Amino acid sequence: MYCSKCGELNPEGSDYCKKCGAPLSHAAIPPAAQPPAAPASGQQATMPARPTSGFSTASLILGILGFSGICALLAIIFGAIGINQEKRTGAGGKGMAIAGVVLGSVWIFLGIITILIFVAIGLSAFS
Ligand SMILES: [Zn+2]
Repeated sequence: MYCSKCGELNPEGSDYCKKCGAPLSHAAIPPAAQPPAAPASGQQATMPARPTSGFSTASLILGILGFSGICALLAIIFGAIGINQEKRTGAGGKGMAIAGVVLGSVWIFLGIITILIFVAIGLSAFS
């Protein structure tokens, strides 16, 4: 029987490992029989087929339509939800969610600049 801690082969029926002293579980798995970890990495290889978060998709679309103001705001909100879903549930589409947030932020930034320019023009007209 093999020690589950150091992998040392111990005489059958021993309670403690002769090498490291760890208590031997009688259900201990020999190190050679441990590769059940391999199918897990094989599953990860097929992971890209995971569903895309609807919020991420909506965020990107709203981000593209963001010039109407309210869409830009929704793009940021949906994007944040999409990123959160990606973290918690592993839903795909994080790239789209980030793009939506960035686009929404750019539109809002441009909107603020536009308002500031109009305010500046208005102020200079009265001075
Ligand atoms: Zn041991």
